[in-house]
This record gives sequence, C-alpha cells and structure tokens, in this order.
Amino acid sequence: MHIQAKSIEEAVRAHSTEGEFRAGGTDVQERIRAGNLSLPIIDIQSIAVLDEIEFHESGTTIGALTTLESIGNHDQLQRDYPAFTLPTRTLATPQIRNFATLGGSLCQRTRCWYYRHPELGCPKKGNSDTCLARDGNHQRGVCFDFGPCVAPHPSSVGCALLTYDAQVEVTGRGKISIGDLYGDGSDPTREHTLEKGQMITHVHLPKAIENEKAAYYRMMSRKWAEWPAVEVVTRLMLDGNVISDAKLSLGAVANIPFRLTEVEELLIGNPANDDTFQSAAQLSVARANPLPQTGHKLKMVVACVLHTLQQAVATT
Ligand SMILES: Cc1cc2nc3c(=O)[nH]c(=O)nc-3n(C[C@H](O)[C@H](O)[C@H](O)COP(=O)(O)OP(=O)(O)OC[C@H]3O[C@@H](n4cnc5c(N)ncnc54)[C@H](O)[C@@H]3O)c2cc1C
Ligand code: SF4
Repeated sequence: MHIQAKSIEEAVRAHSTEGEFRAGGTDVQERIRAGNLSLPIIDIQSIAVLDEIEFHESGTTIGALTTLESIGNHDQLQRDYPAFTLPTRTLATPQIRNFATLGGSLCQRTRCWYYRHPELGCPKKGNSDTCLARDGNHQRGVCFDFGPCVAPHPSSVGCALLTYDAQVEVTGRGKISIGDLYGDGSDPTREHTLEKGQMITHVHLPKAIENEKAAYYRMMSRKWAEWPAVEVVTRLMLDGNVISDAKLSLGAVANIPFRLTEVEELLIGNPANDDTFQSAAQLSVARANPLPQTGHKLKMVVACVLHTLQQAVATT
C-alpha cells in the first residue's frame, strides 16, 4: 500500500498509526525487496518547500528533503560548515547522493546482515529477543559496545552534525538536539528516538565559525559504495597555535554516533602539534570495549583520529 503525501500534515496523519515514510527511497526500496518494512509507504518526496537551504543571522536551516548531493556541492555550505559537507559529498555514490535526502540519511536503518535477511529474526525487527550478531558473525560490528544491538549506526551525516551541535526539527516535538535524536543506544529496536507521527522537517546549524579547521576520514573495505569500518569527523578552532575549541565525533563503531568528549577536553588549551595529537589519538579508544571480532577497529580509530587532526591543521 502506498500513500502520496502532499503536505507535512497529511504525511504525519498517515504515519501516526502505521507505515513508514519514504523520502529518496534508497534505503526503503532495498527493504521493500527484502520484505522488511512496515506498510503503508508514505511518500513524502513531493512535499513542497522541504528542500530549501536558508542562511540567516543565527545560523542555517536545511529542509529534510534536500539531497546529499545539493548539500555536499553547495559552495557556501562548504565554506561555512566544512565538517558537515565533507562526508555528504563522499559517501555512497553520486547516483545515491542524488536521491538520498538529509532526513533519510539521519533515519536510515541498520545495515546489519541479520536484520536485512528476510528470514532471520532480530530484536531490531521486533520478532526475536536474540541478537544473532552478538554470538555470530559481528566482524563489522561495534567496538564501543553501548547496548544490546551490536550493529554500528549507519549515518555518516548524523556523525558530522554532532560536531555542530545541530538541532533537528521534528513534528510534534519541536527542535531537539541531534544527540536526542539518537538517544543512548539502549533500545535495540530502533536507530533513533522518533515515534509514530514524528517526521523531521528541518535541520538547524548554528552560526558558522570563521576559519574553523575541519577534516573527515573514513576507513572502508573498498573505495566506493560502502559504509565505513570507522569514520571520524574533526573540527578545530585555533588561537595562534593553541587549540581554543575542538569537536570530534566517531561513527561506525557504536550503535549511535557519539562525541569524543574526553579527547576534546585533552585538546583544548594545548598546542596544535604532533605530541598533542598523538596523545589525543591514544585517548580516543579509552572507552572502547570491543567484541571478540572487532578488536581490529581500535587501531583504525587511533589512526583516523590522528589523521583528521593532522589534516585539519593543514587546511588553509
Ligand atoms: C552502496 C551504498 C553505500 C552507502 N554508504 C553510506 C555511508 O557511508 N554513510 C551513510 O551515512 N549512508 C550511506 N548509504 C546510505 C544512504 O546515505 C541512505 O540510504 C540515504 O541517505 C537514505 O536517504 P533516503 O532519502 O533515500 O531515505 P529513505 O530510504 O527514503 O528513508 C530511510 C529511512 O528514513 C525515514 N525517513 C526518511 N525521511 C524522513 C524524515 N524526514 N523524517 C523521519 N523519517 C524519515 C524513512 O521512513 C526510512 O525509515 C549508502 C547507501 C548505499 C546504497
Ligand atoms: S546487531 Fe542489532 S540489528 Fe543485528 S541482529 Fe543484533 S539486534 Fe539485530
């Protein structure tokens, strides 16, 4: 069953009892094929005005239906929010980025192969209490084990927006922080905290900071069209050679993207040099608690953090 929503109200009304929104459809279509989706599909792609980018005094507002391609290639967004645009223009493939929307990228579902398999049960599908990945093959799983589900959160964009303390506008909830969108990872049935009838309409970024230094780096098993094994988004603000502020977030290693607050604290007030960066990179895995098959990711985290810090200060 399929509903073509022409307005936010229409979409939310239809969604309030059952069903799933479809924006760009790059995740939804694949789950339709696997029979892993709650019907009806509520198509929101043709709702007007949700694909606009607006710059104002206090920041920037981006409609949830804006495609990742338009965000990644937007000159002013690249200048003002480099740590946000870097992943949006490198993830997946150009074809996917042309369809994939901001809202869909934040709310996409896990890539865990047990979840995606049409015949297997899993807590996230709600049809089993047993996580087959935890005792089975979890080599692509988390190395920061925050909760029952051991599949990494798939959203590179969510990871990037965390470093801007972005806010997400949700119908029926108003503006919530990107951290609140994802919660603490303790509920294995979902990747975000949105309830029935709640739709993301906009993302708000704070006022741009002049001359921020930003870098994004991911390690993955092939060059294109793959989710990363580890990804790091780094923003540094410098006062001379001293780090006056730092924001780092880590993706693909836990069931939610999260900020490396302990690393940020270490960096702030210290010189932007290799000694500081080495210490920061080592500290980045202090909270890690890998699964039997994910210990290899720790070295990747350390290498990615170090690389982004070095890359960030090298940017002009
Ligand atoms: C080969 C490949 C590689 C990829 N690599 C990466 C990667 O490295 N990093 C990464 O982040 N992504 C990656 N992706 C995923 C891609 O970014 C997502 O499929 C895409 O962003 C989803 O956007 P969409 O608009 O197509 O969402 P849809 O498929 O339309 O929807 C996805 C989910 O979001 C919900 N949704 C959509 N819009 C809203 C809204 N406004 N409010 C509330 N819920 C909403 C839908 O109900 C659905 O549950 C990859 C995809 C492929 C195929
Ligand atoms: S890791 Fe998560 S998605 Fe995968 S089987 Fe376990 S609960 Fe399901």
